[in-house]
Amino acid sequence: MPPLPTPPPSNGVRPRRPSRAVDIGGVRIGGGAPVVVQSMTNTDTADAAATAAQIAALACAGSEIVRITVNNEAAAAAVPEIRDRLVGMGVAVPLVGDFHFNGHRLLQRHPECAAALDKMRINPGNVGKGSRRDPQFTEMIEIACRHDLPVRIGVNWGSLDAAVLARLMDENSRRAEPLPPETIMRHAVVTSALESAAQAEAVGLAADRIVLSCKMSGVQDLVAVYRDLAGRCDYPLHLGLTEAGMGMPGVVSSTAALAILLQEGIGDTIRVSLTPEPGAPRTQEVAVAQQVLQSMGLRDFTPRVTACPGCGRTSSDTFQRLAEQVRHHIDERMPEWRGRYPGVERLRVAVMGCVVNGPGESRHADVGISLPGSGEQPVAPVYVDGEKHVTLKGDAIAEEFTAIVEDYIARRFGR
Ligand code: SF4
Repeated sequence: MPPLPTPPPSNGVRPRRPSRAVDIGGVRIGGGAPVVVQSMTNTDTADAAATAAQIAALACAGSEIVRITVNNEAAAAAVPEIRDRLVGMGVAVPLVGDFHFNGHRLLQRHPECAAALDKMRINPGNVGKGSRRDPQFTEMIEIACRHDLPVRIGVNWGSLDAAVLARLMDENSRRAEPLPPETIMRHAVVTSALESAAQAEAVGLAADRIVLSCKMSGVQDLVAVYRDLAGRCDYPLHLGLTEAGMGMPGVVSSTAALAILLQEGIGDTIRVSLTPEPGAPRTQEVAVAQQVLQSMGLRDFTPRVTACPGCGRTSSDTFQRLAEQVRHHIDERMPEWRGRYPGVERLRVAVMGCVVNGPGESRHADVGISLPGSGEQPVAPVYVDGEKHVTLKGDAIAEEFTAIVEDYIARRFGR
């Protein structure tokens, strides 16, 4: 018989790539810290009330760092008021200002803007053209140093530094066997990030105040670029598929890209850049980012509800409705549970549709219920910590089951 393959270590996720730790307003990125969830507002930053409200909503949804665009004078002037409003609401989430070609001017004219931020994001491909690029980049880094602000050097392939790309294309054309243009493009994205980081360090920004990102809009491009970047520096890395799109395609492509890299131990913070559907909350991107991390076993944010997909053995939608009710109950109660029951996010609940997998899956969960499939007795055994606890029947199964879950949480996670 051939030997069994060596089992992968723990859950199969490779050890995190070693990186420096960077402190962002009290949140640690890199250096082995848990992967941090970030998001970005889409309000007009000049509207301080609307922006502060959206930041609070994102923070409440679980965003651990929030970025706002600082794109003009009115936006720069509004940043201190946004901070004050957040303080008034009791929201202490670190705030990142996103700066581009006029960032140096805005920061010079509004020093109180920099003072109200916890970090700056600078896109090195969009800080000024030609001879203006280096002095304007330097000016922003000097301001970051004065205010002791960490900086994310965030390259985006849609606004890649044209000078870096032209230089690498030139070099490539002189090769005996030139590489494909897409290889040079990926190389240029990484080169822009690394050269800008070296330039920032030369200006005086400490290495442990630098985070890098290289956002691409294609999954394979993103994976290739971050693998390259991860092997060439020890700055913490922020991951995100840029312009991921709307709805399910955006969620799936972001998940595909992030999951490959996170599985390889690459990535210290993540953002899921979804285009919200009309009327959909901005907080959706936070929920997806959390779900990616939780489903990979990297972090726990909320109790997990395992539910079977249902099949021809289910004669009604009872179990679907119960699974939805349980999920809804958990979502509603989590704000209170989080404070009262530390560790409750590790809870596992199972809601299953019939006797085939129901008892087995329910026994694996902390609390599980196996509903009757078609042709089965109209009873629902409930399992707690792997043991049969009670059998429910009648019209109040949902209420009785959620009461059992409540009781379990109080007993196991109560102080
Ligand atoms: S547990 Fe039962 S109802 Fe659910 S998918 Fe499996 S066989 Fe079908």
